[in-house]
Amino acid sequence: MDSEQLRENAHKMVDFIADYYKSIENFPVLSQVEPGYLRELLPDSAPNQPETLQNVLDDVQAKILPGVTHWQSPSYFAYYPSNSSVAGFLGEMLSAGINMVGFSWITSPAATELEMIVLDWLGKLLKLPEDFLSTGQGGGVIQGTASEAVLVVLLAARDRVLRKLGKNALEKLVVYASDQTHSALQKACQIGGIHPENCKLIKTDSSTNYALSPDLLSKAISDDISTGLVPFFLCATVGTTSSTAVDPLLSLGKIAKNNGIWFHVDAAYAGSACICPEYRCYIDGVEEADSFNMNAHKWFLTNFDCSALWVKWQFPPVENENWGGILLEFEVKDRNALIQSLSTNPEFLKNKASQANMVVDYKDWQIPLGRRFRSLKLWMVLRLYGLENLQCYIRNHINLAKYFEGLVAADSRFEGCKYCLSCQLAHLTWDKPLLGLVVLSMKCLLNPLEKMGNKWVVTPRIFSLVCFRLLPPNNNEDHGNNLNHDLLDAVNSTGKIFISHTVLSGKYILRFAVGAPLTEERHVTAAWKVLQDEASALLGRL
Ligand code: PLP
Repeated sequence: MDSEQLRENAHKMVDFIADYYKSIENFPVLSQVEPGYLRELLPDSAPNQPETLQNVLDDVQAKILPGVTHWQSPSYFAYYPSNSSVAGFLGEMLSAGINMVGFSWITSPAATELEMIVLDWLGKLLKLPEDFLSTGQGGGVIQGTASEAVLVVLLAARDRVLRKLGKNALEKLVVYASDQTHSALQKACQIGGIHPENCKLIKTDSSTNYALSPDLLSKAISDDISTGLVPFFLCATVGTTSSTAVDPLLSLGKIAKNNGIWFHVDAAYAGSACICPEYRCYIDGVEEADSFNMNAHKWFLTNFDCSALWVKWQFPPVENENWGGILLEFEVKDRNALIQSLSTNPEFLKNKASQANMVVDYKDWQIPLGRRFRSLKLWMVLRLYGLENLQCYIRNHINLAKYFEGLVAADSRFEGCKYCLSCQLAHLTWDKPLLGLVVLSMKCLLNPLEKMGNKWVVTPRIFSLVCFRLLPPNNNEDHGNNLNHDLLDAVNSTGKIFISHTVLSGKYILRFAVGAPLTEERHVTAAWKVLQDEASALLGRL
């Protein structure tokens, strides 16, 4: 890389990106192009001679950006957020600049060591138990995605059992999760050779707000054991993709422990909120888990990709005299399940530090060999924002979601979350509990119906996702799903906002997920206006 060429072109690129962010509100949030649009705009083959950067940037502006859905737009409310930030961007830039491949400690000691340290930092912000930290008996690793995280721990858990029972037991192994669990688990089961019928997705409903019921889990496990099957893996979710349901970690974890089942917690989206003391309760029980995952690239200002996975290890640190100081030496039999499952040791990768078991080689914690210096961007985010700002960031989005929830509740054409008493109690403002209690008591006195439970509830908002729907006229539910499907299409076609949907208990539900870094109250107000206008137009045509 020629330094001066880099300096000149990178400045141009940064200007281009800065201008993109400046004008991001001018683009339709959801790309409005038709499939195959790009083939018509670009040549059939690569150029023979070099072109100028300006030519390429002109093409990006004219041909690429129209085909981009703008996840960083302040009016992006679909799926879950995928944050970028100045700090995250700078970390990505530095990582691209250094461009090393840190599969083993020796290939860039700083990359491995920074990753261990930064995941310890993040683990401490989440108040993870000491045995998930590298300073305790565990450790963290950055995976590309939550899908890779659940796959690697599922493989580790599978091999741990198969080492005991023999390879033929594979067809008897059973995985448990709720039917709200992300499809990444099913994919992991497919790759891991789990019999499709043995990936048991336990039914949930509105009675638990779509959380996994420990009773149903216990029953499923004992039924399976009685027929000779072998339960080996449980995946709980904190913040499900559809509706942010929170599985009860403590009870589920105890069931897993009593049955020798690997317990994985997927907090891909909601994990970020748990750096705030008032939301940490949602991962209470994580001490029972064998592995825990959150995506810093979702709602933690860290550019994609950065999925943090922590596992507990089972080996004791011992003194290694050949290297000096306190170092880790592992007995092969004691190595943690993840490494036992994923490690390889070819001649061409052998080196003194690895052979002496003195270092972590992250190639043994993941599927690929090569890996990027992803910890840099997380380190940048943690250092350039600091815990207090990160907490404010999360709270601001949650407040915006509450604000949107209020807008929905005030329009009788829509069904949102009218909290039942227990939900309201659970969501009392963290720093004003007394005021919350007074308001709640007044509401209950004035409207005794509130006490009757969650009859009208789509599903409660816990973090920054609001689930809601347009009520069909005359409560004719035959039209409810089509109506909401049409409303989704209509609002997204305006290009002004982008929202997504799910189906809960057979009902088509709209999802409004606040979490883009640039979103302010005015964007939420404007989004609600789009929804109201399109709803009026739709209802007017009926
Ligand atoms: N788990 C949950 C709860 C999610 O919400 C998602 C994605 O939204 C995933 C897993 C999959 O994430 P990834 O794209 O990082 O694999």
